[in-house]
Amino acid sequence: MNRREFIKNSLLAASGAVLLSGCTFKTGGTAPSALVTTTKFKNLDVSMLGFGAMRLPTTASGAIDDSLNKKMVQRAINAGINYFDTAYMYMGGKSEKAMGDALKKFDRASFNLTTKMPVMMLEKEEDVERIFNEQLERCQTDYFDFYLVHCLNKHNWENTKKYNVIPFLKKMKKEGKIKYLGFSHHDTPELLQEIIDYYDKWEFVQLQINRLDWKACRGKEQYEIARKAQLPVIIMEPLRGSALANLNEAATKILKDYNPDASVASWAFRWLAGLDGILTMLSGMTLPEHLEDNIKTFTNLTPLSKEENEVYDRAIAVHLKTQAIGCTTCRYCECPVGVDIASIFSVYNQYKQDTTGMGKTGFISHYEALKESERADKCIKCGLCKTKCPQQLDIPALLEKVDKEYKQVKGV
Ligand code: SF4
Ligand code: SF4
Repeated sequence: MNRREFIKNSLLAASGAVLLSGCTFKTGGTAPSALVTTTKFKNLDVSMLGFGAMRLPTTASGAIDDSLNKKMVQRAINAGINYFDTAYMYMGGKSEKAMGDALKKFDRASFNLTTKMPVMMLEKEEDVERIFNEQLERCQTDYFDFYLVHCLNKHNWENTKKYNVIPFLKKMKKEGKIKYLGFSHHDTPELLQEIIDYYDKWEFVQLQINRLDWKACRGKEQYEIARKAQLPVIIMEPLRGSALANLNEAATKILKDYNPDASVASWAFRWLAGLDGILTMLSGMTLPEHLEDNIKTFTNLTPLSKEENEVYDRAIAVHLKTQAIGCTTCRYCECPVGVDIASIFSVYNQYKQDTTGMGKTGFISHYEALKESERADKCIKCGLCKTKCPQQLDIPALLEKVDKEYKQVKGV
């Protein structure tokens, strides 16, 4: 940061806190270099921008680029980001170690480290303790600040109860190995309510909330349940993958005409900043430019104004109109044979809207990045998914269409 920027940021920080309907966003933070906006959680100042370690930078061979990751973590810390979110399964099981490596040189008390119990992988009760100890070792730490039961849906919730996950995690809390306990949720509002009612000591919840899922996937209902239970909300998928950073040309034009300097992604974060009770927003930042853009957005983070909200609504409506398949990627349509319906539709929509700018080549490479066993041609047309889709999509027919088009483009 040059001197002029430093003075500017210091002046802005000195302007104090912005009160947003019960949630205090404080500019600055405790460290002199802390620039991103923070929010209060118990006695902590948590950065509103959380460093998600699900999409870490990789080398050409596909391995985590540790050197770049360390530089990005350093930059994040310098900018005041103090929330780092990993998980046992991220990056093929390599994310926790990579984050441990990147964070070990910093004072442990100066950042919050989060990971999650992969309940979907449990086969017996002993797995819980074994995995937890492995996580401490991978992350090179004695404790986790925030710890989540990972990805609760109907099946994973059953596993959580069956393998006594909560009693074990309570014990870890007592031993000081976990400071705050919560869960991430990927199912219906009804199940969310059931999980909240089951254990009255949850301290936060992680939800997929973003402008696209707000109505379509009952995001608003889930958010309201969490708020009613007075649980602070960690936002995951604020950009719904990268969809909200890559709106189609017409939607992007609306936003750029209004504010040429604001990135498309910044609108999505600022829309979320208008919600009360947000603990942090996780962003998986693969490239340094993603991190820089996010730091810019979260430095003195402000919610969208009424006028900006109207502009954003207009852009989103234009974007959705040109979407080839009206899939919101809510993933309620779990397929018994493992077809990755949401990813297939997402790849197809990106191709049709050409949000990647890579045309047919991009379509082929992104489609082929999916495992063969998860592709459209594996659909056996049982129709189960159709009964679960809130958008009432004729999923088997659409999969057939995508498969046909892929084969045409590929020339096979
Ligand atoms: S119709 Fe196809 S995609 Fe849908 S659940 Fe059955 S096999 Fe899976
Ligand atoms: S196909 Fe329907 S249920 Fe499946 S992810 Fe898309 S919108 Fe959700």
